[in-house]
Amino acid sequence: MAEKTLFEKICDKEIPATILFEDDRCVAFRDISPQAPHHILIIPRKPVPRIGLAGKGDEALLGHLLLTAAEVARAEGIAESGYRLVINNGPHGGEAVPHLHIHLLGGRQLQWPPG
Ligand code: 5GP
Repeated sequence: MAEKTLFEKICDKEIPATILFEDDRCVAFRDISPQAPHHILIIPRKPVPRIGLAGKGDEALLGHLLLTAAEVARAEGIAESGYRLVINNGPHGGEAVPHLHIHLLGGRQLQWPPG
C-alpha cells in the first residue's frame, strides 16, 4: 500500500491540526504557515494527488470541496469582506504537498496577480 500523504495523516488524526470542519468526504484545517489572517486548507479524504489527476467520478467531490470552502469562509466571518480560493497544481503551480487541497485566504487585501 502506498505511504500516506501528510494530509491523509491529518485526516486520520495521526498528525495534529486545527480542524474547523470535517465530514465523510473532506476536512478543513488551519494552514501551519498562514499567508493571511485566515488561511485554511480544504482537502478531500480521498487522496487525489492534484486537481489535474481528478476524474469524472470526482465531480461531486470537487463541488463539495468548493461549497465547503464557502461555508468555512462564512463561519470565519470573511464572506462579506471577501477571500480567495487557490489550487496549486504541480511544480510550477507551487504545489508542495501532493494531495489536492484548496487554500482559503482572507482577512486582508490580497494582491493580483499572485507571484
Ligand atoms: P501547497 O504549496 O502544496 O499548495 O500548499 C501546502 C500547504 O500546506 C502550505 O501552505 C503549508 O504551509 C501547509 N502545510 C504543510 N505542512 C503542514 C502541516 O503539517 N500542517 C498544516 N496544518 N499545514 C501544513
